[in-house]
Amino acid sequence: MYKKLRIKAGRVDLSARDPDERLGFTKKEAAAALQKNIQRLQELQYLLYAEGRRTLLVVLQAMDAGGKDGTIRRVFGPLNPQGCRVTSFKRPTEHELAHDFLWRIHATVPEKGLIGIFNRSHYEDVLIVRVRKLVPKDVWQKRYKQINDFESILTANGVHILKFFLHVSKDEQLARLKKRLNDPRKYWKANPQDFTERAVWKDYIRAYEDALSKCNRPKAPWFVIPADNKWVRNLAVWEIVLKYLENLDMKLPDATFDVSQIEVE
Ligand code: ATP
Ligand code: MG
Repeated sequence: MYKKLRIKAGRVDLSARDPDERLGFTKKEAAAALQKNIQRLQELQYLLYAEGRRTLLVVLQAMDAGGKDGTIRRVFGPLNPQGCRVTSFKRPTEHELAHDFLWRIHATVPEKGLIGIFNRSHYEDVLIVRVRKLVPKDVWQKRYKQINDFESILTANGVHILKFFLHVSKDEQLARLKKRLNDPRKYWKANPQDFTERAVWKDYIRAYEDALSKCNRPKAPWFVIPADNKWVRNLAVWEIVLKYLENLDMKLPDATFDVSQIEVE
C-alpha cells in the first residue's frame, strides 16, 4: 500500500485515482486485519516515545466530510494519548494572521518522541486561500517553495513527515453532507459553507493537484488515500504509518545506569 498510494514524482492526476478503490479487501477482511493488528502500532508508538529521538508528523487533508475526524478516531484513537498531539487548524485568528502563515504551524509541531497529527495544516494556505482568493496570486504562488523549505527544516531536525490526502468523490461527499442534515444528532456538524464550497470543487481539485505535486518530496511524501469507503481509508492510513515506523528500526534505549548496582529491598 505504501508504494501504491504514495504519489510519484511529476504531476498527480486525481481524476485517474478512484476514491472507491478497495485495494483488494472486503470490508470484513479489512476490519478484521485492523482489529487484529492495531496493537502493532501501539508497540511502535511505545518505542518512539521511549527512544525520544524523533517526531512523527501526520498531516491530514481532505475536502469537507472527507473523513479526517474518523481517521484520527479509528487509527490514532487506540494509541496512548500522552504520546499524541492532535492540532486542528481552523480559519486563522487576527493574531495568527498578523504573522507569517507558518508561524502557527511551527509552534505546534510536537517535541521528539511524540506523534503529531495535523487535522488540516499549512496546506490550507495554498488550498482555500488560493481558491477563495484570500491573498493575491503572487503571494500564494511563492508558498509551495516556502512549504518545502519549512518541511526540509523539520525533516533535517528529526521530524518525520507523512502527508495524507483523503480522496472522496463529489457524490460521496454529497451523501455524507446530506446525512448531517437528515439526522438531528449530526446537525452540529453541518455547515452551510460546505455546500457552497462544492460549487468550486474543480478549483479545489486543481489546487490539491498542485499542492500534492509541488510539495511531494522523498522525506515528506504525499499519499492519496481512497476514502469513499471508511474501512479502506482507515486500513490504508494505518498500514502506511505502521510500515513507516517499522522501517525506522527503533530500539529501546539501554539503561543509563548499572542495573546490577541498584539495591532493591
Ligand atoms: P469538521 O469536520 O468539524 O467540519 P473542519 O476542519 O472542516 O472540521 P471547520 O471549523 O468546519 O473544521 O472549518 C475550518 C475551516 O477553516 C475550513 O473551511 C478550512 O478551510 C478553514 N481554514 C483552515 N486554515 C485556514 C487558513 N489558513 N486560511 C483560511 N481558512 C482556513
Ligand atoms: Mg467543516
